[in-house]
Amino acid sequence: KLVAHMFLRDLRMKDNVALHKASMTARKLKVPLVTFWVICLESWKTHSMSPFQATYRLESLKLLQKKLKKQKIPLYIVEAEKKSEIASCIESFCKSRNIGAVFTNMEYEVDELRLLSSLNDQLAKNNIAFNSYNDTCLVKPGTLSTKQGGQFKVFKPWFNCWLQYLKDRNEESKEDEYPFFDYELVGDINENFHYDENDKALTVPGIPTEYELTASQRQNFDDLYHLGEESALKTVKSFLSSPKLTKYSTGRGDLSKPSTSRISHYLANGIISLRTIMSEIITDNSIGDKSLNFKGSTLEYVRQLAWRDYYKHVIAHWPTICMYQSFTGPMSEDLEWENDASQFEKWCEGMTGYPVIDASIRELVATGYTSNRNRMIAASFLVKHLLIDWRYGERWFMEHLVDGDFASNNGGWGFISSFGVNSQPWFRIMNPWTQSEKFDAAKYIKKWVPELKDIPDNKVHNPYSNGFSADARANGYPEPMVEHSKCRERALDWYDRMKN
Ligand code: FAD
Repeated sequence: KLVAHMFLRDLRMKDNVALHKASMTARKLKVPLVTFWVICLESWKTHSMSPFQATYRLESLKLLQKKLKKQKIPLYIVEAEKKSEIASCIESFCKSRNIGAVFTNMEYEVDELRLLSSLNDQLAKNNIAFNSYNDTCLVKPGTLSTKQGGQFKVFKPWFNCWLQYLKDRNEESKEDEYPFFDYELVGDINENFHYDENDKALTVPGIPTEYELTASQRQNFDDLYHLGEESALKTVKSFLSSPKLTKYSTGRGDLSKPSTSRISHYLANGIISLRTIMSEIITDNSIGDKSLNFKGSTLEYVRQLAWRDYYKHVIAHWPTICMYQSFTGPMSEDLEWENDASQFEKWCEGMTGYPVIDASIRELVATGYTSNRNRMIAASFLVKHLLIDWRYGERWFMEHLVDGDFASNNGGWGFISSFGVNSQPWFRIMNPWTQSEKFDAAKYIKKWVPELKDIPDNKVHNPYSNGFSADARANGYPEPMVEHSKCRERALDWYDRMKN
């Protein structure tokens, strides 16, 4: 019987817990190791997969298949038409390929947990062993708890506890206890395996029509998103040794020249693990600290990386979050949202008349990415200025992001809308005009809103109130769709009523 690893959002060979365990087992049992990946377009649709992410994932998969082939390890594709059929498709595949054990890394969203649970039952009926591991989080969800034994709601004490946990285990060197253990794929297991190149199950599907990028999006994709584990590691290493890291604390919000690491698409698709990134930080001589006593910008960067773990811990603990329910307060269904369809359309088209927001939305549509500060300003405007249900924006982001990750995206929207765990107070309402000036958005606006490219930098944040109405209008750029101060008042009143 063969041993199999099922790839999910862990498309890498290096430092992959379940793949490592599967390869160790195959070696011990002296049987071949095979791998597979499931495609289900219905599932992509319900989870709002974006064309950028679909393209990135399928192309990453092809590259991974090529690399595995060098070690004679096949990566098969299992197709399921419906979400409800995924477990039985995997079961049939395992039976037809004489697979005796399946290894995989856990994902913590409700649908994914349900699948793992039904897979466990279904495979057990066929005497196929099923083993799942924590790989995506640096600290396994459920490990940390408050003094009262509950899950942390607030990030700050959770982060202190998370870091302390890592510090405590950092001294140990054994696998499963040492948090930065490198889970290598053990080599040469398939020396005698007959790798049939003509096997139909090896065909990675092309990009489905509904996920095809436009020509200009494809150009941006090629310029921005490189494939493969080597390129992910190179990006991390060059960020850690660049002035970007030194400036990270203060410069990461800078809109014209953000100093962030641009690794989110690698992490969201599992091209690199958080363990590897943390190991790089710790062992980097100029910034690292083997005792994990980070300081300054390095500490700030580690803190941001930790948000990713935090939001995964949150959805694992409160699974209803995955069912479009808000974390705090009344359920979104009961709230009196305005949900004006034409206003939502203007926001989605980047035609709000607020240049910083329009630039962010247009960048996101064109490239699949916009910075954290932009995501916050655009999200805040949709929810608090327009009183549009945050879940519309959450879904729309997923439909466009190359780094779409349910937990982080939901967490971000929950934070901004004040309906999430550890969210900002409801009476904090971002002012897009001042954000634009404070974070120096002028050059960024001109890049993404060409209608405003000839307006002086210090006037471009709000051309209609800075004496450049005629120029903006002549180029077809709209007036602000709503007035900031009125929206602010309305939001304060609305939140006051809804929250109470
Ligand atoms: P860096 O600042 O260099 O950070 C490094 C890594 O740390 C990121 O790649 C990411 O994995 C993690 N990280 C940083 N900030 C956060 C954060 N606030 N929450 C969770 N993880 C974080 N991030 C996603 O990966 N996927 C999403 O779908 C997503 N949706 C978001 C939606 C909203 C409304 C908001 C406000 C934020 C969202 N984020 C999301 C978080 C953040 O915007 C991106 O991770 C970040 O912009 C990616 O760029 P970077 O890799 O250069 O980040």
